[in-house]
Amino acid sequence: MPRAVIIGAGIAGTATAIGLTRAGWHVTVHERATHPETSGAALGMWPTAITALDQLGAGDAVRAVATPQHAGTVRRPDGTLLARLDTERITRHPGDHVRLIARRDLAHILGTALPAETIHHHSAVHGSADDIARGRVDTETDGAAPGREAGSPALADVVVVADGVFSAHRTALLGERYRARYTGQSALRGRVAVVTHEVSETWGPGRRFGVTPYLDGTTNWYASLDAPRGQRAAGGEVALLRGLFAGWHAPIGQVLEALTEDDVMRHDLYDVHPHLPTYVAGRAVLVGDAAHGMTPDLGRGACEAVVDAVTLTRCLTDAEGHLRAGGVDRALARYDRLRRRPTQRLQTLARGMGRVAHARRFTGARDLLLRVAR
Ligand SMILES: Cc1cc2nc3c(=O)[nH]c(=O)nc-3n(C[C@H](O)[C@H](O)[C@H](O)COP(=O)(O)OP(=O)(O)OC[C@H]3O[C@@H](n4cnc5c(N)ncnc54)[C@H](O)[C@@H]3O)c2cc1C
Repeated sequence: MPRAVIIGAGIAGTATAIGLTRAGWHVTVHERATHPETSGAALGMWPTAITALDQLGAGDAVRAVATPQHAGTVRRPDGTLLARLDTERITRHPGDHVRLIARRDLAHILGTALPAETIHHHSAVHGSADDIARGRVDTETDGAAPGREAGSPALADVVVVADGVFSAHRTALLGERYRARYTGQSALRGRVAVVTHEVSETWGPGRRFGVTPYLDGTTNWYASLDAPRGQRAAGGEVALLRGLFAGWHAPIGQVLEALTEDDVMRHDLYDVHPHLPTYVAGRAVLVGDAAHGMTPDLGRGACEAVVDAVTLTRCLTDAEGHLRAGGVDRALARYDRLRRRPTQRLQTLARGMGRVAHARRFTGARDLLLRVAR
């Protein structure tokens, strides 16, 4: 039975584990954190990702708890319409909606689709980059001395590197220049008990605010602002938000009024730049944010992680679940060919979108262009 070791139990790692397990591989996932994801922050899953989740057998479970998103708009702070997102066009071809799901719900659905014992929490993978590229991994779980999993062969057929945007294994395998890069923007977000009816994103100089209708009459909201790395508001994030977005169109004021400090999560935004020259190093293969961490401006990072998982599984296994003829090298080269260009294009687009949304100069020309394009 072919064997895969996966580093990281985020969306990319667990989705890949499901794909390979269903294909008959022996899979172990090593996750540094002590327990599964519990954050209620929302993720937008695009139709291509829902289709990929269907291929992992998890699509219906996701549909059951996710909120479909209809008609979206981009507006100026005074509420003037700049652009309308044609959701009908997005759904027409794949026949599904963009759906909003709590991160912890997605993590739960993916985690419970795996046999018990697949994911080892509080577990770190050791080994030099050369070892990992040769498929040799030593692991340390719950602080025990590093060692090889009992009964496991000396070498894994594939080591899947799924340790996120700050991937230490990416830099070890490909070089220090591929560290995550701070974008100069910080994101604040959460969920609040206010009913809204429209998906909207509002662009102002150096900042933006978005709302999306969410579960049980609540609203998922997010804001982004230009800020130095690591900055936190001395007087509290709620006061900062109320100051920055004062006077912006409805329902932004209502959302801000209902916020408490506990409702606000803040993350600085990073992406992977420069683009990687390859997603493969020997038997090691990068998936998800480890390969193509991108800003959330298109809402595609987690979606692409799931598509990576399905594509990698398909490249590695034939219909019977056997390692494809031609072996691991050829399969990983094919994965690299299929996934690197499209995901790197999205990285570039997402970053560009973030810059345009936060523009401080030429906003009149930008807004006019958007209105004409609409
Ligand atoms: C504000 C914001 C909003 C977003 N909104 C969306 C959205 O609407 N739609 C969308 O598709 N995407 C969205 N994204 C992107 C999405 O969150 C990421 O693309 C996705 O989480 C990537 O999954 P991953 O598994 O590659 O990485 P992660 O989720 O980061 O998982 C990596 C895992 O690896 C573990 N790990 C790290 N190092 C090690 C190690 N050495 N050993 C073992 N384990 C390790 C970590 O603990 C973690 O569990 C958003 C991101 C942000 C910041």
